[in-house]
Amino acid sequence: SSKRFEGQKVLITGASQGIGEAAAQYFAQHGAQVAINGRKEEKLKPVLESLPKISSGNHVIVAGDVSQETSIDSIFQKSIESMRGLDILICNAGYQIPSPSEQIKLADFEGVMAVNVTGVMLCCRAALRYWLEHGIKGRVVVNSSVHQLIPKPHYLGYSASKGAVDNIVRTLALEYASRGIRFNTVAPGAIVTPINDSWVKDPKQYEAVASHIPMKRPGESKEIADAMGFLASEESSYITGQTLYVDGGLTLYGDFESNWS
Ligand code: NAD
Repeated sequence: SSKRFEGQKVLITGASQGIGEAAAQYFAQHGAQVAINGRKEEKLKPVLESLPKISSGNHVIVAGDVSQETSIDSIFQKSIESMRGLDILICNAGYQIPSPSEQIKLADFEGVMAVNVTGVMLCCRAALRYWLEHGIKGRVVVNSSVHQLIPKPHYLGYSASKGAVDNIVRTLALEYASRGIRFNTVAPGAIVTPINDSWVKDPKQYEAVASHIPMKRPGESKEIADAMGFLASEESSYITGQTLYVDGGLTLYGDFESNWS
């Protein structure tokens, strides 16, 4: 694999499993030094050990809850101190809680917003403070979802949160474009990760999900990591404030495929 991220320092939130873990593998494979975040240190240890080693330094664990202002401070302090810098921030941590919307619990709604929205804002703020102080042209990639566009009944907080992060990214992209700091979003469709165990592990439900995706299969975490890599690299040097849908065609209104005449 190329070493196109050699010398780059990358912080990835929610990297203990799923897409965040795949992103950590991706950046380490391409020569970057990575700081992996998640809430629990012990869940991050096996990920750290599995990462390809690089010659310029060690990868590092920066455990902590991204919805808490105080832990954001320590996550960034430890990341920047251990790696002696920060060039790329991948805001990936996120979760969802299903419920019919008339029964939604305020604490659940607020909990999803705290991680998926406030967490992104706090991480971006911390990265910006460091980058502006040091004149670094940093890059942020936020992991949103096709549900920033496609409504998701029974997941009101999740849908709302992903719509919100799209606007966070577009607003920050505009605010900091002149200083060379870029913000973009990847919006995955249905990806095989632990968040989706309910249908991934049930052959019937898996088929049901696959059948309504134009490419007739869910995506793999690596396919999202590849898109994050593009948006964090020099190859996307003139792209900011955009969403890259990585969804096998899910946002193409698949019902019209054979139904247009
Ligand atoms: P996952 O549940 O497998 O992993 C989520 C990660 O976030 C875990 O490492 C978890 O520990 C971490 N996390 C959760 N709350 C946290 C907190 N408060 N502080 C720090 N870390 C926290 O999920 P995934 O499928 O890999 O999803 C990752 C991102 O991709 C999420 O933002 C999700 O919304 C988005 N996404 C996933 C899919 C999909 O189909 N899997 C589709 C669209 C978008």
